[in-house]
Amino acid sequence: MPFTPPHAPLHLIPRAAEWRGFFSAAPNGAAIDAGSAGELLVARVRVALMGASVAVPLVSMFGASHVGWRENAIALMASLAGFLVACGIYVAARRNDGHRRLAIVTSIFDVSLVSATQLAYALEGFPSAAANSRTTFIAYFMAIGATCLRWDARVTIAAGLLAIAQYLGIATLAWMRWPVTTTPDVLVHGEFVWGHQLGRAVFLVAFTLLCAAIVRQSLQLRISSTHDALTKVMNRAFFEERLHDELARATRNGTPICVALLDFDHFKRVNDEHGHTAGDAALQVVAQVLRRAVRRTDLVARWGGEEFALAFPDTRVPEAFGKLEQLRLEIASHTIVLASGAELRLTASAGIASAPIDGDDPQRLMDAADQRLLEAKRGGRNRVVASSATRPESGVWRVVVAG
Ligand code: GH3
Ligand code: MG
Ligand code: MG
Repeated sequence: MPFTPPHAPLHLIPRAAEWRGFFSAAPNGAAIDAGSAGELLVARVRVALMGASVAVPLVSMFGASHVGWRENAIALMASLAGFLVACGIYVAARRNDGHRRLAIVTSIFDVSLVSATQLAYALEGFPSAAANSRTTFIAYFMAIGATCLRWDARVTIAAGLLAIAQYLGIATLAWMRWPVTTTPDVLVHGEFVWGHQLGRAVFLVAFTLLCAAIVRQSLQLRISSTHDALTKVMNRAFFEERLHDELARATRNGTPICVALLDFDHFKRVNDEHGHTAGDAALQVVAQVLRRAVRRTDLVARWGGEEFALAFPDTRVPEAFGKLEQLRLEIASHTIVLASGAELRLTASAGIASAPIDGDDPQRLMDAADQRLLEAKRGGRNRVVASSATRPESGVWRVVVAG
């Protein structure tokens, strides 16, 4: 999802430039987080709804209903099967680690379950129920609407297109199997009118576009509230939230995790010598260097001013130290060419801390990294100071580069 400023106008139908990369763009980390929570919520609602939907045909079967036994039996079997699958999806959603595949599979399932019920009506001799049933048709809107909670407009559009295609297919089938004489099914659900069927399809198109627009707007808001506007990396609040989750995961799985605080040396001089706009541009460049240098699963945030926080899940101190060293060298060896043509050289200092040695909560861990950052500054800057955990004899690692 490309970052768009929050004030950018929102179009119901994305403009040409927005479509480009719409289906290929990897979802933002903030969206993945919210999408996983949404998937779990939808899974819970699905279990409750499927459980309740088993009761509807049961009540009709034993109550005074004008709908036949066979029609009810179809609905009962469909809702029972749906209930069992819903329970399975709930278990999968609890275990899912932010994979988009589950969102796509479950959205397809929701839409197809509605179509499967209508298909069963059409095949079992109730074409009017298949084409005109109001209750089953409303379920399409629920399935498409629920995709909004997956925070991925691509999933919403895919679910909407599938619903439209399947619905039109079923309408065609119902039309082909329409009884010659008026049956009780037609008396209950009504005659087949193509205009009505196409009208229903148009509603599905409009609802899908509306949902996709809601997702896109919510995403923009979510990204602007979790990311730094200047550098586009995470902001401090979101980093702390994510670090909390990563630490809990590391404790649960018994895996190591490292954090680092990186501060640019004498950055005030950049502003003093080249102006604040140049300072801002330099921060944008280095933030992207940091983001590109680390793994997708690592966290990069603007901690404040010209300080950046990093978190490396599943990483031991030597690896984290190696990565920070590589970054420090990369920063020191590159020249930033400003819009004015002026050239800028930067260096950075960093402090590393690791869990559980330096603490197992975000605050203690970041404090330990901050202490080592101070140590790096006091030691002369342009260096990385790491935890003593892997080198007890030396206490700290000091890497000093001349200049
Ligand atoms: P040190 O090596 O001790 O870190 O020196 P420093 O000058 O980098 O440290 P200090 O914390 O005294 O100053 C940080 C400066 O970074 C202050 C401010 O001029 C600059 N700065 C912080 N945030 C921004 C920003 O968003 N844009 C610009 N242009 N400059 C910023
Ligand atoms: Mg600084
Ligand atoms: Mg600073």
